[in-house]
Amino acid sequence: MIYFDHNATAPVMREAREAWLEATEKTPGNASSPHAFGAAANKAMADAREKLAHFLGCHAQDIIWTSGATEANNTVMHHFAQTLDHKSEVWISSIEHPCVHDSAQNYFSKRVRFIPVTHAGVVDVEWLTNEMADVRPGLVAVMAANNETGVIQPWREIHSICQAYEVPFFTDAVQWLGKMPAKDLGACDFVSGAAHKYGGPRGFGFLKAPHKTKVGSLLFGGKQERGQRAGTENVPIILAAIAALEAREKQIANGDHQTRAEWKEKFEKLLVRQVSGSNIVGAGSPRLWNTVSALMPAGGQQRWVTRLDKAGFAVSTGSACTTGKEEPSHVLTAMGFKALELSQVLRFSSGWETTAADWEALEKGITKILAELHHGK
Ligand code: PLP
Repeated sequence: MIYFDHNATAPVMREAREAWLEATEKTPGNASSPHAFGAAANKAMADAREKLAHFLGCHAQDIIWTSGATEANNTVMHHFAQTLDHKSEVWISSIEHPCVHDSAQNYFSKRVRFIPVTHAGVVDVEWLTNEMADVRPGLVAVMAANNETGVIQPWREIHSICQAYEVPFFTDAVQWLGKMPAKDLGACDFVSGAAHKYGGPRGFGFLKAPHKTKVGSLLFGGKQERGQRAGTENVPIILAAIAALEAREKQIANGDHQTRAEWKEKFEKLLVRQVSGSNIVGAGSPRLWNTVSALMPAGGQQRWVTRLDKAGFAVSTGSACTTGKEEPSHVLTAMGFKALELSQVLRFSSGWETTAADWEALEKGITKILAELHHGK
C-alpha cells in the first residue's frame, strides 16, 4: 500500500519514535512536580521550547503547548473573543480549516468577514489592502498553506499590511511546518502548528503568541503554560514532535524538498496528459511540494478513491475532516469551482518517505483504472 494522504496525517518518523521512547523511560516525572523527576521533565520541556522558538524565530516564552492545532486555533479565537470590543470584526480567509472557521463563527458570528481568494486559490491581497484602508478589523487570520490544495498563501505580505495598520495577524501554519522552513513564522503575532502532518506524533500542537500578552486558557484546573493552558504537559510527545521537526528542518535546509517537488510536477504533467479533461487545482499558484489537488472527470471521486484503495494507493477527496460528509469543499467553492467540479476532486499528498517510484506507480495505477472505467468495468 502506498500512502498519499500525508496532509491528513503523516507516518511517525524514527527520530520521533526514539525521542518518545527515551523520554518515556528517562523522564517519568510531571513537569510541575517539585522534585528531581519534575525538574528533569521541566528541563527537557524547556529545551524543546527553546528549540521550537529557535526554528520559528521567536521568544521561547511565546510558545504554548496544546493537544493539537484544533485546540491552538480555538484558543486564538477564544482569546480575541475575550479581549476585543463588541463591535470589532474578525477577518478570516474563506479557505481556513474548519477549526478556524467554525470557532470564529462560534465566537464572532456576524462579525466574521471572509477574505476572498482568487480562482487560483490565493488570498486576494488587493481586496485586503482596499478594505483595510476603510475598516480596521480586530484580527486577521490567513493560513500559511492550504490543506486541500497545497496553495501557499502570501502570509508575509499580509502580515506586513496588518503591521502597517496595527492589526494582529494570525497564521495557521499546520501544513507549512516541516515541509517549508519555519524561519520567519515567529514574526507573526499568532501562529499554530501540529506535529502529525510532518512525521511527529498525533496529539501535539502549539500556539505561538506574544509573551507579553496573557492568552486566556480554554481549559480550567491548572496553571501550566504560565496560566495559558491548563493540564499536565505531555513531555514525551513534546520531545518527539520537536525531534521530528529538527530532522525535517535539516532536510529542508539540504534542499531535499526541491527534488520531491520535481517528482510531483512530473506526475501532474503525466496526469493531465493521460486523463482527458483533468485539471490541477491552483496550477498557476505557488504550491507545497507534496500536494496535488486534481479534478478527475472520469469515474466520480468516491469511485476513484475506492478503486485506488483496492489498487494499493491511499488517497483522499479533500481534507480528512470533511471526508464522509456530504458537504462539498468550502475551499474549492471559495475558489469559484462549479458544483459538478466539486464532486470530481481528488487529493494526492506525498511525504518525505515517498519516492519517485511511488509517484510513477500512482500514475500507472490511475492509467490502469482509467482503462477499466472506459471498458465499463
Ligand atoms: N489546520 C490545518 C490547516 C489542518 O490541515 C489541520 C489538520 O487537519 C488542522 C488545522 C487541525 O489540526 P489537528 O489535527 O492537530 O487538530
